Amino acid sequence: MGGKRLRQVAIYGKGGIGKSTTTQNLTAGLTELGKHVLVVGCDPKADSTRLLLGGLAQKTVLDTLREEGENIDLDAVVKTGFGNTKCVESGGPEPGVGCAGRGIITSIGLLERLGAYTEDLDYVFYDVLGDVVCGGFAMPIREGKAQEIYIVASGEMMALYAANNISRGIQKYALKGGVRLGGIICNSRNVDGELDLLEAFAKELGTQLIHFVPRDNVVQRAEIRKKTVIEFEPEAKQADEYRTLAKKIEENQLFVIPKPMKQERLEEILSEYGLDA
Ligand code: ADP
Ligand code: MG
Repeated sequence: MGGKRLRQVAIYGKGGIGKSTTTQNLTAGLTELGKHVLVVGCDPKADSTRLLLGGLAQKTVLDTLREEGENIDLDAVVKTGFGNTKCVESGGPEPGVGCAGRGIITSIGLLERLGAYTEDLDYVFYDVLGDVVCGGFAMPIREGKAQEIYIVASGEMMALYAANNISRGIQKYALKGGVRLGGIICNSRNVDGELDLLEAFAKELGTQLIHFVPRDNVVQRAEIRKKTVIEFEPEAKQADEYRTLAKKIEENQLFVIPKPMKQERLEEILSEYGLDA
């Protein structure tokens, strides 16, 4: 053994908060540090790897299984993207049919069976949809698949509300298994007092604000070209923000069982820091 330890990381957060954008950009940052990364999209939208692959080039695991049956090769579902990242999209059932979390369960099972978790990997990132951690969406953190979680949030109330709910789920699984919260990533929405608010929120949960990612339109410009900012405009300040986040995750030592707060406490923090910046 080379002494390499595979870190399996799950990224949670409210829909639209910036999980996929942040995951792919920080992944690109990690590849610049020489890390080997597998990204597993766990959102039925199947857009978790678009920026790494240069488009929605990926047929999902569920679609592949539906169309080609159980006897498939790893190449059918794992594509290579920017920085030699390995990219998988779990996919989901047709809208309104069955549990969307099922794709994740099927996917992880298949990846294990086909040997996708290779020795050379440093990281697996699971980009997981959901305001709450339930059913299939809890899969990556159940039974110790992902040991490490980051929640993407902003200063908007619903984002923090979701982050607090997610923490409740993490707490439950942390008590049973080994999963820990590694921090909150603020993906800024330019809310008043956002930095202080997020720091206070993280502290109340017993964790840290691991990085404050500014809002920047270069993200949209890169997105239109189907690229991460790091690939599209490597000199941009925003690219450095993602590199910093990657480095902080690489060096992170603070892993906790979060202490979710009551709704009243969350509202207190919101009015204390959020309003009078
Ligand atoms: P999620 O995966 O959580 O649903 P996405 O990563 O798809 O969210 O982000 C939603 C949208 O927000 C994206 O289309 C992207 O353009 C935009 N976005 C995300 N992060 C930033 C940022 N830091 N600055 C500007 N726009 C951003
Ligand atoms: Mg997404």
